[in-house]
Amino acid sequence: MTRSPRFDVLFDPVRIGPKTAKNRFFQVPHASGMTNANPYVRAAFRGMKAEGGWGVVSTGACSVHPSSDDTPFPFATLWDEADLRAHRVMTDAVHDHGALAAVELWHGGAAAVNRTSRYAPLSPSGVPWMATHVGFMSSARPKVMDAGDIRDLIRWHTEAAVRAERAGFDILYVYAGMGYLPYQFLLSDYNHRTDAYGGSVRNRVRLTEELIDAVREATGGRCAVALRISLQELRARASETAPSEAHEVITLLADAPDLFDVKMDYSATDCAPSRFAPEGSHEPVVDFVKTLTDKPVVGVGRFTSPDTMASMIRRGVLDLIGGARPSIADPFLPNKIAEGREDDIRECIGCNMCIASWHDGVWVRCTQNPTAGEEWRRGWHPEIVRKDSEGSVLIVGGGPAGLEAALTLGRRGFDVTVAEAQRELGGRLLWETRLPGLRQWFRVADYRLGQLRKMPHVSLHAESPMEASDVRDFGADHVIVATGARWTRNLCGANEIPSGPLDAPRVYTPDDIAAGVAIEGPVAVFDFDNYYMGSAIAEHLAALGLATTYITSAGSAQSWGVMTNEQPLVHKSFLKAGIAYRTLEIVEGFDGETVRLSQVFTGEARSVAARALVIVGQRAGGSALYDALAGEGLPSLSLTGDANAPGAIAHAVYQAHRTARELGTVAQDVRRDAPFAMRNLLRYGEAAQ
Ligand code: ADP
Ligand code: SF4
Repeated sequence: MTRSPRFDVLFDPVRIGPKTAKNRFFQVPHASGMTNANPYVRAAFRGMKAEGGWGVVSTGACSVHPSSDDTPFPFATLWDEADLRAHRVMTDAVHDHGALAAVELWHGGAAAVNRTSRYAPLSPSGVPWMATHVGFMSSARPKVMDAGDIRDLIRWHTEAAVRAERAGFDILYVYAGMGYLPYQFLLSDYNHRTDAYGGSVRNRVRLTEELIDAVREATGGRCAVALRISLQELRARASETAPSEAHEVITLLADAPDLFDVKMDYSATDCAPSRFAPEGSHEPVVDFVKTLTDKPVVGVGRFTSPDTMASMIRRGVLDLIGGARPSIADPFLPNKIAEGREDDIRECIGCNMCIASWHDGVWVRCTQNPTAGEEWRRGWHPEIVRKDSEGSVLIVGGGPAGLEAALTLGRRGFDVTVAEAQRELGGRLLWETRLPGLRQWFRVADYRLGQLRKMPHVSLHAESPMEASDVRDFGADHVIVATGARWTRNLCGANEIPSGPLDAPRVYTPDDIAAGVAIEGPVAVFDFDNYYMGSAIAEHLAALGLATTYITSAGSAQSWGVMTNEQPLVHKSFLKAGIAYRTLEIVEGFDGETVRLSQVFTGEARSVAARALVIVGQRAGGSALYDALAGEGLPSLSLTGDANAPGAIAHAVYQAHRTARELGTVAQDVRRDAPFAMRNLLRYGEAAQ
């Protein structure tokens, strides 16, 4: 297939200072959960994107000094020679495929509270960053930087820049965004200084400018210098001389860096879930930058549509198409467009499981791309599966797990049959993605169905409920049961451990709503699942015009949504939809008119009037079909997806991918990565002498 000429513009080379990117696809810095302790895992993850055609591939935040220590969140470092060697593995992997390697030099200032290094966090004026956000909260408060601290900061960037060049990086970032130290100097809220670094915008910009100059000088102009800057708050602040402070800042810095990387200020807006923000949602904040500078501009917006990308270039909004999540979901996105295969793009669904991985402190996990993070450890390639088999497989269940297993086994060369009871394939996605904001999640099924329909040796059968005798009669070499999980009516105790089912009139589960049961209002939704289902059902019921009260045993609505950046947006959405919500309460009983509640900590009795109660609590896996087949002596039988262990869609897809990769093979040991040693290893006890 050949590329559509309307996408040619995406493949123009772009000059970035002394370097040239081969095309406009720029994997901007993003967290991977991989640190210098996993140099090969990280190199394989980043290198895969270079292999997939990204013209520039960047690290995530890379600390210039131990006074910028983000633990327990994973981050990279460029503190010494061992760090340099760790990064070299990645830059080699990126260069092997003709891409440029970028490093995001980073000092977190007051946003990095140095839990391990125990340095006092640095700040322009002692104002903490996000002091109320649980992930960033600390009992430490930042110190006010003096002139010596500012000199040190510049020197640390200089030293890190020298190491970065030696490690093979082509583009070195100065990071003035997302609450980190230079950003705090830019904003008057954080910067109350009365010296040359505070007061006027001119003075507040000074530190960023000096850092850019220092990094450029340190590498003799051989590396390109990029500025990553958040513009959401600055653009909202009035200026006497320009349309906003953001305009003033960009004007002052117009010639300073070789590249502008422009973004939002907060994780929830910068990396907004698709449930609450569409593709390209940054544009209203960053659209002016190119009018004020001749330097190339890169920006993100969860771009997965090549038409949107081309339009961003043609309309003069951006010069380079930044991708973080789209590059995780599909490292081969650029090559697919280059080859005229845009239908094959595995589009990011905007669920933010990848962000949740960073918040969890682990390697990136992706709902759409189960191979993310497994490129080195398990040797999984996102596009290529060894063609090694000619047997037949029957997969029972056509949800995310069944479809992923079918795709991977189809690629391995098996004759695959999928039998699904429902009228359509898609499993839980069929109904869940009809809930408010979740439509894009159907891409999980769309992508797989699109690929499967091109495979002549795969047959997909809807309206085909299977019983044990049907499976036996079918006679496949391998049987995979992927029949999903069911929501229970179980309540829970104050410790959120599920207890027995609630037997009362008009008590429903999400499965009942999916089956089309008519709900009477007012309705109460009791959520102790704490992910999206409870809040999405509350939004759904409110949209039907029912008076809705959301009740949770946790301290906030969709409490696990703090991991996916959804939580603040869920609260806003509840307010907009008029959904009442109650926290730290559990349901004790329901008589069809009144929900009896108790406060989690005190046990105090409370109540809410309701005609219906929806319990969003525990899901039960297991499969009667699998149990019936287990004793039959079939040559090969597996249970996978939610039926094996209920969880997020990402987990079901991952389990099924692994089941399919390993089917009929001898289990392989996973590879273990290890950091480079500092110098000569000390014996225990020597260090203290
Ligand atoms: P997962 O996330 O693990 O893929 P889902 O619940 O999304 O789980 O999908 C499971 C699918 O299996 C559902 O579409 C369901 O209709 C289907 N299914 C369950 N039991 C059978 C059966 N006996 N025969 C065929 N399909 C079944
Ligand atoms: Fe996109 Fe979700 Fe994958 Fe993140 S986890 S890249 S949001 S599909």
